[in-house]
Amino acid sequence: MSIGEFAEALAIVCQKHGGSVTSWGRTVKHSVSVGGFDGDPHTWFLGADVVYDRPGAAVATDPNKPEVEADAATLGLRVLHETTHDHFQPADWINRAHDGVAHA
Ligand SMILES: [Zn+2]
Repeated sequence: MSIGEFAEALAIVCQKHGGSVTSWGRTVKHSVSVGGFDGDPHTWFLGADVVYDRPGAAVATDPNKPEVEADAATLGLRVLHETTHDHFQPADWINRAHDGVAHA
């Protein structure tokens, strides 16, 4: 899955389910500083974190929405329900370190 394909699939899911992207591509340095690692999907711009508008609330968001799973799977994405957000990545994702390579 290319970065463009990932971004388009993510946008479709977010626009349908009221999701906002709070984190997307990261440098290895930044990802490590927030609990990730060299080669995690965020460092390849193939990982994104999403929160959802909470109906009836002006500003509050919900961290997870189980009903996105079917749409995510149809679009080739896997969703992981984390404590503060849903994390999206390609369904067939395999972690791989950068080894000094700047981009995919
Ligand atoms: Zn994430």
